[in-house]
Amino acid sequence: MSIVKIRDIRVINTNPSGANLTVVKIETTEPGLYGLGCATFAYRYKAVTLVVEEYLRPLLIGRSVADIEDLWHLMNGNAYWRNGPISNNAISGVDMALWDIKGKMASMPVYDLLGGKSRQGAAVYRHADGATLDEVVENVHRYKAQGVRHIRIQFGGYGGKASSLNTPPHSADGIYYCPDQYIQNTLKLFDHVRSQVGFDLELLHDSHERISPVDAVRLAKSLEPYRPFFLEDLLSPEQDHWYEILRQQCAAPIAIGELFNNPQEWTHLIAKRLIDFIRVHISQIGGLTPARKLAIFCEQFGVKTAWHGPGDVSPVGHAANVHLDINAHNFGIQEWSGIDDRLAEMFPGSPMLLNGYVYPNNKPGFGIELDEKMAARFPCDDSVTRWTQTRLPDGTYNTP
Ligand code: MG
Repeated sequence: MSIVKIRDIRVINTNPSGANLTVVKIETTEPGLYGLGCATFAYRYKAVTLVVEEYLRPLLIGRSVADIEDLWHLMNGNAYWRNGPISNNAISGVDMALWDIKGKMASMPVYDLLGGKSRQGAAVYRHADGATLDEVVENVHRYKAQGVRHIRIQFGGYGGKASSLNTPPHSADGIYYCPDQYIQNTLKLFDHVRSQVGFDLELLHDSHERISPVDAVRLAKSLEPYRPFFLEDLLSPEQDHWYEILRQQCAAPIAIGELFNNPQEWTHLIAKRLIDFIRVHISQIGGLTPARKLAIFCEQFGVKTAWHGPGDVSPVGHAANVHLDINAHNFGIQEWSGIDDRLAEMFPGSPMLLNGYVYPNNKPGFGIELDEKMAARFPCDDSVTRWTQTRLPDGTYNTP
């Protein structure tokens, strides 16, 4: 085969199931050979699209598809300023598409390019939420009956049930939550769920960086006897030096990373062994190329992977998670928000969940196709993002 070059780069935006999804398609000079990558940044998808179409496309057209490592660094440095979420997602779309192409050229799934399988399927965790404690328990039993052994429990989402906020008149509109009530509710939640399901099941929890650092330490210590599999985002990235204090205070396993963009945000946490699970959003850090290196770096320090797997990741992005999960020796767990029937129809070859494990297909590359005609029937949502307009009981804005 003569040198295969990038002939065109296109962006496909779609919203089939409630989240804006962005997929980059690279077409090559080899007839029929193309790759797909996930560039989903649901709340700024037009900015990502513009970076791909106006900056990366002219930079890359005519270049060989072979040297992914070099192209990644070229994209990362091309704007001089780097490591931002918009540029990282744009780079990710191209990066994953190049890995998809390389797999197709080698007639190998991406996990084979990475070194093959450490396991056949990746264990997942599902989300059990509820408006009452018994509703949470019902949802835990429902997932357990489906073979899921790891379940994230939340009581009233990430903010608890604030019954009497006593917010000052004329306060701004927003999503209000009460950290104190959240903490009390979460303690009741773990006590109730453990009393109902026992300890023969792994329970996880996500604080979504909504409490103060010292409260996070107190909460982790209080939850330690309930043996959480991990506690996620107890602290915001801005307060990450508190992880040293947290580590000295208790042995509850710690997971963080979905907000990270820059290697400087994770290197010291890993090298100092302050966390147990890294759970970055792979497109958010720039794609499979940096995520592969991050997994290998973590292995040296006994940190496991738990890649972010929410609804605002395309099936191509989920596949990138799962191909790494299957390969990495230090895989820990995979968050799984599900791929519904419409998504599976739009993206033939999507990863499949069976009995608590998710499996990639064994076709070359990521083995996923995209029905572009169907995607065009589901336009993106351009309304102002509301769920991130979070406020404390006194009306102060606080991160979501
Ligand atoms: Mg989370």
